[in-house]
Amino acid sequence: MNGLTRREKLITDTETVTQILNKSKVLHLGLVDGDEPYVVPMNYGYTFENEKLTIWLHGARNGRKYDIIRNNPKVCFEMCCDIEPFEGEVACKYGISYSSLMGKGVATIVEDVEEKKAALSVLMKTQTEKDFEFNDKLASVVGIIRIDVSDFTAKHRPAPQKQ
Ligand SMILES: Cc1cc2nc3c(=O)[nH]c(=O)nc-3n(C[C@H](O)[C@H](O)[C@H](O)COP(=O)(O)OP(=O)(O)OC[C@H]3O[C@@H](n4cnc5c(N)ncnc54)[C@H](O)[C@@H]3O)c2cc1C
Repeated sequence: MNGLTRREKLITDTETVTQILNKSKVLHLGLVDGDEPYVVPMNYGYTFENEKLTIWLHGARNGRKYDIIRNNPKVCFEMCCDIEPFEGEVACKYGISYSSLMGKGVATIVEDVEEKKAALSVLMKTQTEKDFEFNDKLASVVGIIRIDVSDFTAKHRPAPQKQ
């Protein structure tokens, strides 16, 4: 992967990727609105099976992100966790340690009620680590977006060793 500095580490193992997906809780969804970028923060749920990452988002059934996705379903996203600022003796030695994941894919507005119910359960599992079930009525009043992720990368920036 390009763009890694000396201190950053590319993460490729499934376990560490899964930890980032579990801990981040909020992702920033990037959309292309005609010739303008649009970024919106959202909670998410995910499945990561056989190397295939799928992300589900929920919320109101209308709004700008829906209008954009109907015109252009190509999206990107970023999430991060374990954010810890650290100090240094001089300004340029200050920094922040973190783990992060970003990727791209295609968004689909989910209409199927069974898929919506499953997506809400996945979302609640990711957000709370608890199991929830949803009925048709609840699923019908929320909007669900599925992102089929085509590519992603993850990296970790550790804090410097104390000397
Ligand atoms: C930590 C966090 C988690 C969130 N989780 C969810 C979630 O899981 N589901 C969900 O539906 N929403 C969530 N939101 C709210 C989300 O960011 C959007 O505000 C909301 O989804 C509406 O998006 P929209 O594109 O339909 O905007 P619209 O309601 O159509 O917005 C119109 C305009 O309002 C402004 N706007 C929209 N969102 C924001 C914002 N967040 N901050 C400042 N200005 C804004 C923009 O200028 C936009 O053009 C979350 C917000 C935060 C900060």
